[in-house]
Amino acid sequence: MEHRKHAAKQHSHPLAQRAVVVGGGVSGLLAAKDLQAAGFQVVVYDAASSWGGCVSHHEVAGVVLDGGAESFATRTTAVADLAEELGLAAKIVTPNPAGAWVWLPDGPVPLPRTGILGIPADLNAPEVRAALGASGVLRAALDAKMPATIGTTEAVSSVAELVRARMGKRVLERLVAPVVGGVHSADPELLDVDMVAPGLRAGIREHGSLAAAVAAQRAGGSKPGSAVGGLMGGMYTLVTALVEQLLAAGVQMHAGHRVKAIYRDPAEAAAPTEPLSAPAAPWKVDWGHGTEQGSDTASLLVVATDGPTAVKLLGTELPQLVPFAPAPGPDIRLVTLVVDVPELDSAPRGTGVLVAPGVKGVKAKALTHATSKWGWLADSTGPGTHVLRLSYGRAGVKRSDAVRLTAATPTEEDLVPTALADASTLLGIEVTEADLLGADIVRWKGALPFAAVGHQAKMAQVQALAAAVPGLALTGGWLSGNGLAAVVAGTRRTIGTLIQDMAKE
Ligand SMILES: Cc1cc2nc3c(=O)[nH]c(=O)nc-3n(C[C@H](O)[C@H](O)[C@H](O)COP(=O)(O)OP(=O)(O)OC[C@H]3O[C@@H](n4cnc5c(N)ncnc54)[C@H](O)[C@@H]3O)c2cc1C
Repeated sequence: MEHRKHAAKQHSHPLAQRAVVVGGGVSGLLAAKDLQAAGFQVVVYDAASSWGGCVSHHEVAGVVLDGGAESFATRTTAVADLAEELGLAAKIVTPNPAGAWVWLPDGPVPLPRTGILGIPADLNAPEVRAALGASGVLRAALDAKMPATIGTTEAVSSVAELVRARMGKRVLERLVAPVVGGVHSADPELLDVDMVAPGLRAGIREHGSLAAAVAAQRAGGSKPGSAVGGLMGGMYTLVTALVEQLLAAGVQMHAGHRVKAIYRDPAEAAAPTEPLSAPAAPWKVDWGHGTEQGSDTASLLVVATDGPTAVKLLGTELPQLVPFAPAPGPDIRLVTLVVDVPELDSAPRGTGVLVAPGVKGVKAKALTHATSKWGWLADSTGPGTHVLRLSYGRAGVKRSDAVRLTAATPTEEDLVPTALADASTLLGIEVTEADLLGADIVRWKGALPFAAVGHQAKMAQVQALAAAVPGLALTGGWLSGNGLAAVVAGTRRTIGTLIQDMAKE
């Protein structure tokens, strides 16, 4: 196991207890929280003008809504524990149990409610039978009869390989591909199963089948029976609470400050206390804020940006990282429509619809009927007013399946008519421009890291490289996997190890 070396011995140096965090998404903010609690003097820089990264908010037709993440996985208690620490325990909510639908090339069916990533736990559930048909269910049932070694060997595996081997093509195409497209904006053939469904392959070895592993994971979370939770008021309130706590604790917060370079500053190195253990020179971080430029210095550096930026910023000091630079994630657009359509009070497609790849006539990959999914939101908008969120863009799709989001598109607002047409098809109720109270398009360019097969092994190497560098920690979705549950747990692990190691020295 890699031993972490760092500059903690410089207790006498004024920079010894100063930590700079680059990136103020949930990873960076949480790193700042845990470092501050451990006694560090913390400074956070984020390039954007607001905090939270992918956990953002926007106002549409007078309603403040999540602009990115709107829920968290409850397979562990990581996010719920954090919410509790921030005084938000009473705000944790579960979505409408009606569940979502999946739009297959032959039409819509309810999405099985007991799955993970669309992989069903109960093959006898009526929705599973409706989605797969008798022959599909028969093939999927072979999962329980085959050896637990199938799909769980050391060889890296895509989500598609695992599902195809154990449950067959119909489960893959009709259940898993739509869910993976909706959640990860990617094709399951390309995604590393250990990144997007951590613990699932180990679960097969433990419980004997993929269905049993899914059932065990579903039962083991903080809220059995529900795969996700949310926060009353929106997921972004987690960021608001985090930022408030950091400011109250005296953490220096600099939004709108893009970090442009990171390097060691030998000029600032403390005098060695022992001849053979010269402490590393402190980190120097150069930032830009409009026309203003500046720099900061600290003995501890946490880089919590997206992967490509982290590797670029650290490339000079740590050239070994460069070959591990991850590919940028897909370009995603979220189109939010606030509409006045009382017929939607009946929630015709439950909490929303995931669209299978290859469905003709619909460009969206998913529609969330937010006012049906979250009771608190419906209460705040009142009857008749609905919030619909449609997402566009996935990685690894055929060009013909992608909405044209290039410069050739006359204006981005073209997506609003597309979203209205898609919503009408997917919900089976006409939603027109005349019904529109407001619309907004949020562009997420490369924000969702793309965990291609082999990603987990590569990221373990990246963590090992970082752990060997004095006073450096790397964290973020590109390392721990997409989603708040993974990001919160991963950041706490990384920062916790760092603090523990420093305390030992
Ligand atoms: C549209 C969308 C919907 C999502 N929905 C969900 C969901 O419902 N549930 C869920 O669990 N997860 C969801 N996710 C994923 C989840 O939001 C992310 O995994 C998580 O928020 C990532 O946090 P992070 O801090 O690692 O990265 P980010 O949130 O990407 O934060 C990185 C930060 O680094 C900053 N930065 C970048 N470069 C620099 C620089 N040079 N200098 C200073 N700062 C810099 C950025 O401005 C950003 O604030 C969603 C993601 C997206 C994009």
